[in-house]
Amino acid sequence: MKPSFIMPFAGGTLDHVETRRTPEHLKAFVTDKRAQCLVFFKGMPALNDDGSLKFIHPSELIGRDLQDPGPIFLGLNDNIPVFAAGVAHPEDLAPIESFQNMRAIASGLAPTELALAGRAKSMLDWHFTHRFCANCGTLSNADEGGVKRNCPECEAQHFPRVNPVVIMLVLSGDKVLLGRGPGWPEGFMSALAGFISPGETIEEATARETFEEVGIKVNNVQYLFSQPWPFPSQLMMGVMCDAESEHVTLDEAELEAAKWFTKDEVKAVFAKQSDAFARPPRFTIAHQLLRYWIES
Ligand SMILES: [Zn+2]
Repeated sequence: MKPSFIMPFAGGTLDHVETRRTPEHLKAFVTDKRAQCLVFFKGMPALNDDGSLKFIHPSELIGRDLQDPGPIFLGLNDNIPVFAAGVAHPEDLAPIESFQNMRAIASGLAPTELALAGRAKSMLDWHFTHRFCANCGTLSNADEGGVKRNCPECEAQHFPRVNPVVIMLVLSGDKVLLGRGPGWPEGFMSALAGFISPGETIEEATARETFEEVGIKVNNVQYLFSQPWPFPSQLMMGVMCDAESEHVTLDEAELEAAKWFTKDEVKAVFAKQSDAFARPPRFTIAHQLLRYWIES
């Protein structure tokens, strides 16, 4: 199904321009007077005083100490070239306090800015953590504006990876099962979730993760909607499924608690009329899944 709202971190307006990334194209984009560059420090984007994303012209980065591979080309936004770069000494470009944790600002950014910042963060994180060829260990080189890395030694090509995760509303009649991980903020409960393993379908991963975490078999897995999640680069696939029992056997390494809540109880929490649990933040797919469920 297509959600009737813009999923946080999705809905980006960038044209990735995958077919125009030769050195000549990139030179024209980076020297375009209108070009814009988002600046990150340790995964945090720089913001203006009004809370919007701060852009500078890529030429302002010349001579700066930049994180490998320097500015990456994200794409065209209304035909304006948009880049992103990680800086080592942010105070040269913006006040240090203007760099903000993305989770902290996610609820305040405009949807298209959040999508842009999320893509930029995931791409920069990938370059930062995948500098060396996974095949032979040689330092690799970014190519085509940063959409891939090439190994000069063994000629292997490496592409940004996205990690698939299932996140599920486990249902029993008008009840949903929510859990809390060790060390989560007081009272916080959310949907169960887990990484998909090689060789698994979405349905199989949902069943395996649910059984591992709470000892409950599920069936009738139905896909709802998904979310790109830039911490660092997951694709969250939201589903709902039916529990075969309500008896919870907790895997205490994964979860500190798991509890069934009725739809009325969840509605009351979302209406801020109950503190039965602390709901997941609005910019998470868990929040959007629960909102979809209580409104359906
Ligand atoms: Zn190699």
